[in-house]
Amino acid sequence: MDETVLLPDRLLSGYRSFMLGRYSGEAERYRQLAREGQTPETMVIACCDSRAAPETIFDAAPGDLFVVRNVANLVPPYTPNADFHGTSAALEFGVQALKVRHIIVMGHGRCGGIKAALDPEMQPLSESDFIGKWMSLVRESAETIGANDLLTAAERQRLMERVSIRASLANLRTFPYIAKNEAEGRLTLHGAWFDISTGELWAMDQDTGDFHRPFEGHDFAAEAGQGAAGTGETLAGMLPATKPEDASGP
Ligand SMILES: [Zn+2]
Repeated sequence: MDETVLLPDRLLSGYRSFMLGRYSGEAERYRQLAREGQTPETMVIACCDSRAAPETIFDAAPGDLFVVRNVANLVPPYTPNADFHGTSAALEFGVQALKVRHIIVMGHGRCGGIKAALDPEMQPLSESDFIGKWMSLVRESAETIGANDLLTAAERQRLMERVSIRASLANLRTFPYIAKNEAEGRLTLHGAWFDISTGELWAMDQDTGDFHRPFEGHDFAAEAGQGAAGTGETLAGMLPATKPEDASGP
């Protein structure tokens, strides 16, 4: 039994690095957070996808972000009934107990959940088809966008990723205390979309619903002193020229 594996090696070595590096650097902050409790100002609703971790993308310190992750970063509409509402429970705690000032719905490129929603041929992964049921939250727009053959598959995918963010923001506003806090200026809702392949972050304009890059054109590679020439060209080639309307809808 001495061969029992408590945790995968990769996690144990990662934890070791954490204790030697980040934890030792932030030990006092952890102790303070333990003593005084958490007071994050920002809640993030993100996808389970291993490539789009909000704490990594926003370089967050412990206590900074209150995060809930689910398949395709969806928010269901406010539905007080006997079902099990994990995301709604997190929203209730984040808004009512922690009194967060911002909620960000953050989508990402190449989202598997969104891909499944767009593909009517997709077979359920198990009899229960929890993913199919969950993704039916955006079924109507997925059917409309999925049927648009003027767009390429990649364009439909990106469009659906962004449309679903707008749908989740609308659903957030069906929660009475979220709508009230927003109306009274205590809470701001945001949309964001992370491009895994380039690392670029797009943020939603609340007035138009369009997505823009807050750092458009900024050469982070050069700033980091890594000799940006090649990387910069790659980035430019992978992104739409200027405006985010490349994936504008049907
Ligand atoms: Zn995803």
